Amino acid sequence: MAMRQFEPGCDHDTEFYWEGTKSGVLLVQRCSGCGSLRHPPSPVCPHCQSLEWEAEEAPTRGVLYSVSMVHHPPSPFQPPGYLLCLVDLVAGVRVAANLRGCTLAHARIGMAVELFFEPGANGFQLPQFRPAR
Ligand SMILES: [Zn+2]
Repeated sequence: MAMRQFEPGCDHDTEFYWEGTKSGVLLVQRCSGCGSLRHPPSPVCPHCQSLEWEAEEAPTRGVLYSVSMVHHPPSPFQPPGYLLCLVDLVAGVRVAANLRGCTLAHARIGMAVELFFEPGANGFQLPQFRPAR
């Protein structure tokens, strides 16, 4: 099966995030009310219900929280058997992405990983993680 190039479905709440990937940065939201960070993008702070926030660049290194090998459902962007991971970048920011450069057998919960980007369609880039060098 031919793989398509990744392109996100943007809406009002996620546009800032995907625009940031075009510049190779992972942007998260910092609440203007209570100062907490949050991800994935959402219109309301879960801590203080403020609607005000600013975008902030997330750290590029984090800790592997979980990983699984995905066979189903099929992805239009990559063949089955890819590794999907959750990474803690900083308090409040847990990011779901592919884990590259590592087999499931060698992945260890708690290991240091680093962010990088793979090009997608129309200038968008998809955040990925790999073992930190
Ligand atoms: Zn808040």
